Amino acid sequence: MAATGRSGFCPFVTGTLGLGSFLMRVISCIVTEHNLWLVLLAALMCVTGCWVTIGLLDRVRKTVGVQMRGWLFLTAVAAGSSIWCTHFIAMLAYQPGAPITFDPALTMISLVLAIAGTGAGFGLALDKSRGLAPEWGGCLVGLAISAMHYTGMMAYHVAGIVEWDARYVVASLLIAVAFSALAIGQAMRRPYRWSHYLGIGLLVLAIVGLHFTAMAAVAVTPLSFITTGTNPDILEAMAVAVAVVGLIVAATGFASYLIDERGRLESFERLQHLALNDALTGLANRVSFNDRLDHEIEREDEETMTAVIVIDLDRFKEINDLRGHAAGDQALKIIARRLAKLAGDGEFVARLGGDEFAAIKRFKDQNELLGLVSRLEKSLFQPLRIDDFEIVTGASIGVAVHPRDGADRERLVSNADLAMYRAKNDVTRAVCFYESAMDETARARRALATDLRQAIERGELSLHYQVQTSVQTGATCGYEALLRWTHPVHGMVPPAEFIPIAEENGSILAIGEWVLRTACRQAASWDNGHKIAVNLSPVQFAHADLAKLVHQILVETGLSPRRLELELTESTIVADKVRTLHVLRQIKALGVTIAIDDFGTGYSSLDTLRSFPFDKIKLDRSFMADVERSPQAKAIIRAVLTLGRSLDIPVLAEGVETHVQLTILQIEGCNEAQGYFLGRPKPIDQILLTGMAAAVALAEIDQSAA
Ligand code: C2E
Ligand code: MG
Ligand code: MG
Repeated sequence: MAATGRSGFCPFVTGTLGLGSFLMRVISCIVTEHNLWLVLLAALMCVTGCWVTIGLLDRVRKTVGVQMRGWLFLTAVAAGSSIWCTHFIAMLAYQPGAPITFDPALTMISLVLAIAGTGAGFGLALDKSRGLAPEWGGCLVGLAISAMHYTGMMAYHVAGIVEWDARYVVASLLIAVAFSALAIGQAMRRPYRWSHYLGIGLLVLAIVGLHFTAMAAVAVTPLSFITTGTNPDILEAMAVAVAVVGLIVAATGFASYLIDERGRLESFERLQHLALNDALTGLANRVSFNDRLDHEIEREDEETMTAVIVIDLDRFKEINDLRGHAAGDQALKIIARRLAKLAGDGEFVARLGGDEFAAIKRFKDQNELLGLVSRLEKSLFQPLRIDDFEIVTGASIGVAVHPRDGADRERLVSNADLAMYRAKNDVTRAVCFYESAMDETARARRALATDLRQAIERGELSLHYQVQTSVQTGATCGYEALLRWTHPVHGMVPPAEFIPIAEENGSILAIGEWVLRTACRQAASWDNGHKIAVNLSPVQFAHADLAKLVHQILVETGLSPRRLELELTESTIVADKVRTLHVLRQIKALGVTIAIDDFGTGYSSLDTLRSFPFDKIKLDRSFMADVERSPQAKAIIRAVLTLGRSLDIPVLAEGVETHVQLTILQIEGCNEAQGYFLGRPKPIDQILLTGMAAAVALAEIDQSAA
């Protein structure tokens, strides 16, 4: 076909192509038909572009939503423009031996094709729902590179006859598509550690391979009569300008990548700092404390030991309550600063939470440990100045040493805690070292306290009932509800053991409510109209709105208030007299009766009687135990009975175990009695039998007295 000054696909050369001759042709095309300096510049452009592209593609892969779309756009621009620049510079490097010109419109279209096509390819590669999405996306990128190249070729006008070898054209397309698919596959899947670099290399091969194979497909026979074309010097300058612009675009993409990377690193470091340090004081937190302790234990040799020192501030709550939380925070910061300052080599301090701090010390000689402990103690007892006031918080310090006091971290910290609690309860000492004999009892108690919290939900609590009998007639007056806890491991735990624990940890509130509700519900189902007596703890008076609760439960269970008797001990009244008496009056106003329990054991029994119109005096069982032997005990019983009569309060004697004791009570004119002789505390289904036994016993006493 005659030359028209435009490149054309004429005529096609076809036939088979061996690999050797193929490579020879491509290499000779590069070496003989190109300006090698510009080829080198194109190669530099290509490698830089691919390096930036694969880096940016990694961001696309790791982000979602708008961020992902932003990165995708940037990647497409960087990839498309650097591919186009590579092509353009390489075209300028091509020396067909005839003048050349460029069609500006087609040149621009080739740039748009490169950006849009690679963008579409990367977008497709992201589709996680398709198994081979990266490879398909890569194919599309390969096609985009090819489309860009051949459109660019159409824009390249050479003054000569252009012949095309179809075999090289097909080979160029295959190379572009195959290598792009492999490159994007590596970049998106990253199966190997060096996949990133493999992806870059494969993409370079796709672009360079396509370009030079496609150039090898072209043979130009110059037409000597056409001499007009772009000046070669200008072409060279254009190549450099394009390279500079292309590199700027790639560098912009790379700079965004770097800025983002730095931002990520900083936020990672910030997160890591937050995760390992306490936000308020900046001291190491519990996580780092645990790590450090594990590490120290691991590093120990035969000569060294590791001590855990647990610190709990004594008067911190006071600062919070009196001066507010800001002052509390300030106090914690000052203390943390002091602790951090005193920690020397091989010593570590942390804030475990709230007003709890801890230290770790690896040591050879016990004196080294004592040194740190005394420095800590001194620092913690130094006054704190916050705004215009000064306070000494003081602290309780517990120490446990590995391996002597615990084989692992958890045991060690828990034992240091036990020692710290002992220090807290001892007014004479601020520091306690773990001592198994003393602290194990506390541990058992703590374990019991934990179990007790779940006792209600697990259905481990039950009520036993003990009959209260009229001494004169033998008739049943009522029953006292007594709480029982069947522990899954320890079996029956006596109330004298677990009620103080429940009072300490506050679970008595829920337990007491459960007892009251259960006792009232069961009593309401009896048709004999007997009273039910329920014990109350001082804690219930202090914390719960007891009168409201009693009223609520009576309404809920339908028990008549007359049938409910609440028992409290003198210590309850002593604990907070004003409040307790106020609550008692409210309860009494409901129609519920109030009994004073264990009477005679408190230190102000008479004053207690004066303070409130009780409905019953329950004489403590210790007097009954001695009554047969001790005239003094008998005299006290007689005095209390006289007191009761003069105040018009009936007296119930507790702990009646023999019929002699019952006879004495009958003779002395006691009103009611309760004790093993009359009936032991029993589950609900057995109490009727007990009541009958009591009646029989009393009938026998009447007969023998007669
Ligand atoms: P308490 O209120 O003085 O209950 C009487 C205690 O004396 C019961 O012990 C009972 O089993 C025991 N007892 C009864 N008759 C005799 C006897 O003839 N001889 C001897 N030696 N003891 C007798 P328990 O059931 O072990 O309860 C001990 C204490 O635990 C109760 O003393 C009461 O203060 C407290 N308690 C029991 N249940 C509850 C409850 O639901 N709430 C509260 N707050 N305390 C309870
Ligand atoms: Mg009682
Ligand atoms: Mg009692």
